[in-house]
Amino acid sequence: MDDKQLLLRQLPAVDRILQHSLLLDMETRCPRVLLVEAVKETVAALRKNILESQNRESDVDLSLDKVAEAAAIRAQKKLLPSLRHVINATGTLLHTNLGRAPLSDAALCAVEAVARSYSNLELDLETGKRGHRYSHVDELLCRLTGAEAAAVVNNNAGAVLLALTALARGREAVVSRGEMIEIGGSFRIPDVMEAGGVLLREIGTTNKTHLEDYRSAINENTGLLLKVHTSNYRIVGFTTDVTAAEMVALGREHRIPVMEDLGSGMLFDLSSFGLPQEPTVSDGVAAGIDVLTFSGDKLLGGPQAGIIVGKKWAIDEIRHHPLARALRIGKLTLAALEATLRLYLDHEQAVREIPVLRMLSASSREIEERCHALAKILAVEIGACTAISVEPEESAIGGGALPLTRLPGFAVALKPLEISVDKLGSALRQQNPPVIGRIQEGALLLNLRTVLPAEEPVLIQNLKNIFNNIF
Ligand SMILES: *Cc1c(COP(=O)(O)O)cnc(C)c1O
Repeated sequence: MDDKQLLLRQLPAVDRILQHSLLLDMETRCPRVLLVEAVKETVAALRKNILESQNRESDVDLSLDKVAEAAAIRAQKKLLPSLRHVINATGTLLHTNLGRAPLSDAALCAVEAVARSYSNLELDLETGKRGHRYSHVDELLCRLTGAEAAAVVNNNAGAVLLALTALARGREAVVSRGEMIEIGGSFRIPDVMEAGGVLLREIGTTNKTHLEDYRSAINENTGLLLKVHTSNYRIVGFTTDVTAAEMVALGREHRIPVMEDLGSGMLFDLSSFGLPQEPTVSDGVAAGIDVLTFSGDKLLGGPQAGIIVGKKWAIDEIRHHPLARALRIGKLTLAALEATLRLYLDHEQAVREIPVLRMLSASSREIEERCHALAKILAVEIGACTAISVEPEESAIGGGALPLTRLPGFAVALKPLEISVDKLGSALRQQNPPVIGRIQEGALLLNLRTVLPAEEPVLIQNLKNIFNNIF
């Protein structure tokens, strides 16, 4: 028998490992299927390790205690939910991979209240008759944007698909070539049109589109003039595009509706926080656009949702289209959305309580102070294991919004002495909750603009865990 066979024989049996006190202790909180699976996987991994190792002497410890410990750690990991809280230290406010906008306390309370028991989701409490789920937000949306009517669906991609289909199926929609965008991989204007049965009539050139281009594209089969906000890219240099007001005037002349996909969509002007001056939803409504769509979880700072506002006739068509049922918004989302929109009734309150707006409005100075305070604590706790400094670092908006905008700020930079910065980054991702930072020029950057103050002690504890385990 060779050495490998000898080692394989030393591997403790699954049943014996399950009887070890470490695993017996877990039985009350870990379902047995997961425990057995964890033990079997641990044994299989060790077996593979032995068979593949080049050394004659394997350096793995095959004692029952060690193997049971490895199995218990594996089982512990299986107990963690797959979708869970992470600390976003990237500084990017609307990180799509990290779930975009965190919700306000008001939104969280509303979700909890509606989720825990029953609700009047589709019941009119005045009459006792069937109501409509849109009724919980449509007045608010009209009040906040000046629109005649509103509808909400699952997300903005769905809102665009639904509005296009309801208003222009089988007909042509005229779009400028400079607005033929792709957002987040699979949302492409031409593809969404095709899916909605709308014929694309592309006009203009990449950098310039004139009102005349729209005018000469109009024929008896034109169903819609579509404007798309180029959220995630900018064309700079010699450019011309047509304003919403000009498109509306042309549309009126030919009795053709005008729609705009705003992407992020802002309910009030955020330029005082360092964002570029962009038209708000109300500006679009005031310009006379028939239908506007935007996301609930971008700069609005609410849950994932697609919001549609505009003229009553258009919203009626949209609400009654069969696709509206397929894309309908869930009650939890609706609760969070209503609570978020209510905060906007007072702009100062919105900035104070909606996390995305609060992070956006934080001054560079404020972030610098938080970074210095954190760096000071870290110097005491882990200063022997890593260089720590506070560096200027900008934030991106993210979520495919305002690609050129950078918010000035600061980050705590860590340069570990004994491990690589990649290893530190990976160790932070393995913590509970995981911390996501950014690696740049040999340092791990923790940008505090997107870290909630309540998360800071956890962040410190995570770093202590990592450095104490290594040394
Ligand atoms: C983000 C975006 C979308 C997609 O919105 P989701 O809410 O992510 O579905 C569509 N159009 C534009 C212009 C966008 O910026």
